Amino acid sequence: MDVAITPISAPRYALVTSRLRAARSGGWREVEHKPVWFAGDTGCDAIQAELVDGGDGSEAFLGGGGVADKVVLIARDVYVDYPDVVLTDRLLRHRPAAVLYTTRAGYQGGPPDVYYNYRTVESHPPPPSAVIDYAAALDLLRRPPRLVEYQAQYRVEAGTCAHVVATLAGSDPRAGRVVVCAHYDSVPGSPGAADDAGGVAVVLALAERLSAQARRGQPPRQTVTFVAWSGHETGVHGSSQFLGRHPEFVASCRFALNFDGIGSRLHLNQMLGCGSPEVLAAVQGRVAGCGYEWPMSIGPGGLDVINLTAVGVPWVSLGQGLTAWAHTPLDDVDSCSPGALAAPLVAAWAILEWAVEAAEIPRGYPPALAADAAEYCARFGWGPIVDED
Ligand SMILES: [Zn+2]
Repeated sequence: MDVAITPISAPRYALVTSRLRAARSGGWREVEHKPVWFAGDTGCDAIQAELVDGGDGSEAFLGGGGVADKVVLIARDVYVDYPDVVLTDRLLRHRPAAVLYTTRAGYQGGPPDVYYNYRTVESHPPPPSAVIDYAAALDLLRRPPRLVEYQAQYRVEAGTCAHVVATLAGSDPRAGRVVVCAHYDSVPGSPGAADDAGGVAVVLALAERLSAQARRGQPPRQTVTFVAWSGHETGVHGSSQFLGRHPEFVASCRFALNFDGIGSRLHLNQMLGCGSPEVLAAVQGRVAGCGYEWPMSIGPGGLDVINLTAVGVPWVSLGQGLTAWAHTPLDDVDSCSPGALAAPLVAAWAILEWAVEAAEIPRGYPPALAADAAEYCARFGWGPIVDED
């Protein structure tokens, strides 16, 4: 197996200061929060402004000039929100001084993560933003403070990280390439055991099994490339860069199998896929007999394989429910189990046995799915980056 370490450029966010306080009759009180590093700085002087209820962040709440130069509180299920161009543009139009986000009642994972669009974050910095938990948000709305003060400053530095790309040559030089992948980076503050070390573990196990077969004289017909992606949690930009720089890699792709959110004890198996009905039915047919339930949804998603949709590469991603634990301290090794890892391993092997031997896996999606994927990529700024230096 040919293994390459492929460097990519990646921004590094170093927090300098973050302080959030609310002023009531008894004086200033600190509010526990998590700064959003993908947002704008407050500068050296802290922002002091009145707090306004921004509802769910929709136009009805933000319009009418009521949030300009105020600190606006927005309720969203933010812990799974990825770069959202629509919300960023709306916030920029209404010019709040700062934004506080909160999430659903009962969310136990600590302050969740918010992402802004990393591709536009420097040209159009979003308002300085922080995340607070549900109880703190409710308290601010029930007993409105006179003023809220927020100061957040961070440094953004150019850095590098690297993908690990291992290729097992196929027996048929005219056949294409099957990509088997997961991401190995995680968000600050979360161990990332199921998101996505579990996915990487499955990729490694599949690589070991296929290469052992090859050593016994039974190589796969298609070339198989195993990838551990980095630069995922900053908006899948690591795979965007790689695919943008390797058009020959993209041109040879016949099928991709991705893993994201794998191995958590409390899980719910789910497949997401993009492809022709025939390809997705072939995958479902292979998985049907494996003894585990793997219901499939069809459509785009915030996964590294989203960057293959522009050219119609069929892909399937296995996940086990990115809900309460994703991007939180709860996502640790003790929360994972070998039993949970068995389900994706068994299903993935069934899919791979088909994919690596298939005579032809047609590219392309039905028109409605292609349009849906294109809109999704445009909204979040995804797809291969072809204009990097
Ligand atoms: Zn992930």
